[in-house]
Amino acid sequence: MAENVSGVEIQLANVTKRYPGTREPAVRDFTMTIPAGKIVILVGPSGCGKTTTMRMINRLIEPTSGTITIGGEDALKLNADALRRKVGYAIQQAGLFPHFTVAQNISVVPGLLNWDRKRIRDRVDEMLDLIGLDPAVYRDRYPRQLSGGQQQRVGVARALAADPPVLLMDEPFGAVDPITRGNLQDELLRLQTELRKTIVFVTHDFDEAVKLGDKIAVLGEQSTIQQYDTPEAILANPANDMVAGFVGAGASLKQLTLLRVREVELTGEAITATVDDSPAALREQLAGKRRSFALVLDERKRPFRWVHVRELGSAASLRTVGRPIGDLVTTQSTLHDALEAMLAEGGAVPVTGSRGEYIGMIELDTVMATIQQLREEHDAGSEVS
Ligand code: ATP
Repeated sequence: MAENVSGVEIQLANVTKRYPGTREPAVRDFTMTIPAGKIVILVGPSGCGKTTTMRMINRLIEPTSGTITIGGEDALKLNADALRRKVGYAIQQAGLFPHFTVAQNISVVPGLLNWDRKRIRDRVDEMLDLIGLDPAVYRDRYPRQLSGGQQQRVGVARALAADPPVLLMDEPFGAVDPITRGNLQDELLRLQTELRKTIVFVTHDFDEAVKLGDKIAVLGEQSTIQQYDTPEAILANPANDMVAGFVGAGASLKQLTLLRVREVELTGEAITATVDDSPAALREQLAGKRRSFALVLDERKRPFRWVHVRELGSAASLRTVGRPIGDLVTTQSTLHDALEAMLAEGGAVPVTGSRGEYIGMIELDTVMATIQQLREEHDAGSEVS
């Protein structure tokens, strides 16, 4: 695994930023190690110093004191070109140059680094492919001819164009609607499984932090670190009241996003039949077990239809009777997905394995019991601390 990591470690040690003419520093004595190839999220209230902290890494803001190393090199001694090669930067509303085409926007850093024209052209197309925009269609468009989500994607492509090991992202998805935002988050996670950059990501949104972060740093005034840990650890055991406030009331529900269906016991069991079985035999079986629904599986044992016992009397074949399966979940799904599916389906939901085969039912009781257990662990944790 380690050999695929293209990111490098970042270390900030005793970093302070005092803006001219201000009494208190915006960032005070900040020390943090950001591991190579991981996504670290900085969250905290408005004005606490997130942006200032992040911008010191690529020296858009010069620290007043302290040291910053990127991959072991002293960032404060790197010249502008070396910094551009090492650190990409994406911001809210994409920050694209309105009078540049998409291709020209993506070319900015490679151009500054004097790449030859063919290499730049190839790289632009490669980046557009990477972010899922057809180069032939989008290369020559201007930012105003793109949707908000597409602009953000181009912003990310521009930040990645020179293939820097470090990517800084300042509320990059802050200005788009929730659905586009969810898609962009999913794409970033997909990209990251390939790219394995070191990503520092600033957001106000704790749910975004939980979804994207390998680690989350919850910051207070002057960028003081309240807690720096995995999302799991922060949700289970907020270090203090400020962090607890940020985690919010729905902590147990948020934890469901971190648990997978494969981690819980599938207590439910549906009565099953395959499409070629006889409707009459299934009806008898259901009556014998006093159940009203059966799950019909296709030839490959995949959930196919739900059928009610009443529908079986006149049915000639299980292939057409009943209603198609609505939502189902896989062992990879989160318990949060499972809960959503249950709310849509009204009860238990079929779970499928890696080849789509039926392996059991997940029931609402299981999810409720998990929430209860997480609460108890949480309460026990806060009593200890
Ligand atoms: P937000 O979430 O609202 O973007 P933030 O956590 O990113 O906020 P910063 O933008 O880093 O916070 O600002 C930290 C503090 O430094 C704030 O009090 C801000 O007013 C102050 N500040 C930022 N830039 C300057 C500047 N150029 N000159 C003086 N003070 C500044």
